[in-house]
Amino acid sequence: MNLRIPGPTPCPEEVLQSMAQPMINHRGPGFERLIQKVTGRLKQFFQTRNDLLILTASGTGAMEAAVVNTLSPGDKVLAVSIGLFGERFAAIAETYGAEVIRLDFPWGQPADPEAVRKALKKSPDIKAALITHNETSTGVTNDLAALSAVVKELDKLLVVDAISSIGSIDLPVDTWHCDVVISASQKGWMAPPGVAMVSISEEAWRFAARAKMPRFYWDLAKAKSSLEKGQTPWTPAISTLFALEKSLDLMAQEGLSNIVERHARVGKATRKGVQSLGLSLLAQEQWASNTVTAVQIPQGMDAKRLLHTLREEHKVILAGGYGNLAGKIIRIGHLGFVTEEDMQQVVEALRASLLKVGFKTSHLTDVRGS
Ligand code: PMP
Repeated sequence: MNLRIPGPTPCPEEVLQSMAQPMINHRGPGFERLIQKVTGRLKQFFQTRNDLLILTASGTGAMEAAVVNTLSPGDKVLAVSIGLFGERFAAIAETYGAEVIRLDFPWGQPADPEAVRKALKKSPDIKAALITHNETSTGVTNDLAALSAVVKELDKLLVVDAISSIGSIDLPVDTWHCDVVISASQKGWMAPPGVAMVSISEEAWRFAARAKMPRFYWDLAKAKSSLEKGQTPWTPAISTLFALEKSLDLMAQEGLSNIVERHARVGKATRKGVQSLGLSLLAQEQWASNTVTAVQIPQGMDAKRLLHTLREEHKVILAGGYGNLAGKIIRIGHLGFVTEEDMQQVVEALRASLLKVGFKTSHLTDVRGS
């Protein structure tokens, strides 16, 4: 099977093999070496000197950790949303009693830094901004450098969901003054699900010292003090960490700037290939994501049948759309272990499947806005 959803992503063979290692004592020296190595490598890819903690969770667990460790019930938070995962961040903060001010942008478009400035100025008691770097539900990458400049100009805590970007799309955490940055192993890191990572600035630790939201499993202060002993507070996902150790070795060999360039090339080739079939993209080129491409499905075409044909006849697994975009888009994941040739195969399979479901290029029309 050719798994091309935006996570879980394919793992290199040696990464999968590394998970066949026997279990180790998570309170022993072998684990200490493992967690220190993985943490150090992740810091390099996050381009940060901030603390970086490893949690046993998918990305959503780390989003919840970010919220409960920095905020108190009743705190005002600006949730900047450009899609499903932006909405999820807002919902988590609301669940724990934050007063969430939503700033929603149309799905398929990025956040406008000027609108963020306005919203922050309108409610000066806002404490933090929750921002998605790369919105996986729409294939849009926000201009995080510009958004960060606004959030920091107004002196707010900046909490970033970089789950489907960091390690694939450039995100220099320290240069862009991102206080909390979240990712997860099953995205660009070429490892299976099970491990989330979060970087925390000194400012974020000051917030944590005052934050009153309830937390136990997700208490980052506990994770920090455990890490000082080379441990995690709770039993870690040891096999996923073995995999991540190996995948980070491979990533270090390739080098971050080469990885970022490869994703840019692969992203561009995917968009060009899809457009060459006569299909339209949801996102405009200037904010199109280099890790996931959302492709518009022409009116009248059954997206489910198309995905089914791709899977059954070409062994290519793509993702559908969420919410309002269900049935209207399909999404191609191209992050982590991926080359331009892999995407050529996907485009060829898409071409054949489109014909199979009865659509010739001449039928393909732009459904944007419908
Ligand atoms: N945010 C973004 C941008 C994501 O892509 C995802 C995963 N698709 C999540 C949050 C949720 O992460 P998880 O499924 O690992 O909990």
